[in-house]
Amino acid sequence: MVYFYKLGLGSTFKKCGPRNMKCPYCGETQTEVVETRDSEDLETIRRRRACLKCEKRFTTYERVENVNLIVIKKDGRREQFNREKLRNGIIRSCEKTTVSIDEIEKIVTDLERELRSADSVEIESKKIGQLVSAKLKKLDKVAYIRFSSVFKRFVDVEDFEKEVKRLIK
Ligand SMILES: [Zn+2]
Repeated sequence: MVYFYKLGLGSTFKKCGPRNMKCPYCGETQTEVVETRDSEDLETIRRRRACLKCEKRFTTYERVENVNLIVIKKDGRREQFNREKLRNGIIRSCEKTTVSIDEIEKIVTDLERELRSADSVEIESKKIGQLVSAKLKKLDKVAYIRFSSVFKRFVDVEDFEKEVKRLIK
């Protein structure tokens, strides 16, 4: 038996078999997805299901499991990645520069996406500092220097000094 159900915005139809999800009313395991809807933030998928036995309908939600990113600090201790902390550090570095809040948000969002798509959930704080520095460098030299000086113990010191000298010239 083949069932059809709506996917996403309703423009696509996909063939699929019955889904095994136990009916909360009668315990039947053969149920059919009758409607699938993405949430606006694309973080949740809501499915309306119908039991093939008692025909009652119920809803299931599908969410991405939040992957915890672990930051390895210089001394080897580990702590959870803190988006707000990083964001605030960048905001401080960008005071009185041309870098907008939107650009800072984008840096943090892009960085977080890069980190979450990496093979390992653990990342050295040094690496995070370098990635943010590289992004700021493209936007504003002052912000880049300030951020790098905060994180300078993470950045190659020679590169940093070279950069300062180059900017002073
Ligand atoms: Zn049922």
